[in-house]
Amino acid sequence: MKVAVFVKQIPDPSGAGRLDPGTHYLVREGVEVVLDPGDAYGVEAALQVAEAAGGEVVAITMGGERAGEVLRKAMAMGAASAIHVFDERLRGSDALATAKVLAAAVRRAAPDLVVACTESTDGYTGTVPAAVAELLGWPSLTFAKHLEVDGERVQIQRQTPAGHDLVEAGLPAVVTVTGGINEPRYPSLKGIMGAKSRPLEQLGLEELGLDPKDVGAAGARQVIVEVSPAPQRQGGEVIDDDGTAAARIADYLAELKII
Ligand SMILES: Cc1cc2nc3c(=O)[nH]c(=O)nc-3n(C[C@H](O)[C@H](O)[C@H](O)COP(=O)(O)OP(=O)(O)OC[C@H]3O[C@@H](n4cnc5c(N)ncnc54)[C@H](O)[C@@H]3O)c2cc1C
Repeated sequence: MKVAVFVKQIPDPSGAGRLDPGTHYLVREGVEVVLDPGDAYGVEAALQVAEAAGGEVVAITMGGERAGEVLRKAMAMGAASAIHVFDERLRGSDALATAKVLAAAVRRAAPDLVVACTESTDGYTGTVPAAVAELLGWPSLTFAKHLEVDGERVQIQRQTPAGHDLVEAGLPAVVTVTGGINEPRYPSLKGIMGAKSRPLEQLGLEELGLDPKDVGAAGARQVIVEVSPAPQRQGGEVIDDDGTAAARIADYLAELKII
């Protein structure tokens, strides 16, 4: 069983993100970058599937030069190998272009299963994994809070507001996991040392058979027209209880049609 896991390098979410005033793109250069915390759940889920089935994990990323660091982290956690798609012509890729690139990398890795996080912590469109599945013609199983692979089939508990749905599909398939599906392991010292010698393949557009016109700024179908700051929260109304507070709150909630 070969499991591919998507990992994305993002600006450290504990810092204040900055947008380029000209392009409105997130500034990714000259800032602290980390493995998207959501993707750590994906790596753990992929490792658990591979360990149970006696297989291995390949970590895949598309990103700038430094994105190789998140692949080393995935390998320190236990992934056996990694693919880094890096090409200057990918700069400006929108979510669909990102999906085209990742789908091409998946075709090359030929896994039985792809695991990704439901949405990234920086772009959070939540569209990339499903678009990859569509491009590959594979089933897409989303919002997994529990994941099991049994022979030729994958089964998930798909989180819903009421509980969960049981969703099943044949392999190969793409699964997105929610935060909290597991407790991601910390890389051990042995894992960190071992990761340095594990194979990390760096690929550009030609190696993946991608047309430069379909990806990067050249292929982007999305344009960020305008960015506005979120409105400041207004101060609420303070009600001093003179004996009528409960009734006034109830009237207010009724006015909002909450009760
Ligand atoms: C016009 C435009 C230009 C942009 N230019 C750039 C740019 O130059 N550089 C840039 O990094 N972003 C750029 N972006 C943002 C980029 O489109 C998204 O960050 C990216 O496509 C993924 O979207 P998302 O983060 O919303 O993915 P989501 O669908 O929210 O991600 C879900 C999961 O998919 C996987 N995933 C997503 N992206 C990657 C990835 N790159 N590698 C591995 N796994 C991944 C992860 O597991 C992630 O948790 C641009 C966006 C627009 C609209």
